[in-house]
Amino acid sequence: MSFAVIPKYRNVVDKKTIEKIKAMSKEHLALVSKIEYLEADVDRLTIITQALWELMQNKIGIKESELINLVEEIDLRDGKLDGKMSKPPQKCSKCKQSVSVKTNVCFYCGHKEVS
Ligand SMILES: [Zn+2]
Repeated sequence: MSFAVIPKYRNVVDKKTIEKIKAMSKEHLALVSKIEYLEADVDRLTIITQALWELMQNKIGIKESELINLVEEIDLRDGKLDGKMSKPPQKCSKCKQSVSVKTNVCFYCGHKEVS
C-alpha cells in the first residue's frame, strides 16, 4: 500500500509575480535612498539657514517679527499661505486648458509649452 504523504510541490507564486516583487523591492530601496539623500539636504539647509539668521540678527539687528512677516509675504506670492512656493498652473497656448506643472505638457491636447 502506498500513500502520497508528501504533497507534490506546486508554485504558489508564479515567476511573473516574483519578478514584480523583485522590481518593487529595487524601487523601494531606490526611494529610501532618495529620501535619505533629501533628509541630509534638509538638515544641511536648516543649519545654513540658522547660521544666516543668527548673522542677520547679530550683525544687522533684524528682528524676528521682520523675518516672520517677510516669510509670510513670500509664501503668499503664489496666492496661498501654505508654507510652499508653488508655481501657478499655466494655461495651454493652443486650447487654454491646464498644463502640467511638472512636464509643461497640456493635459487635454498634449501641446508642450516652452518655458
Ligand atoms: Zn492644450
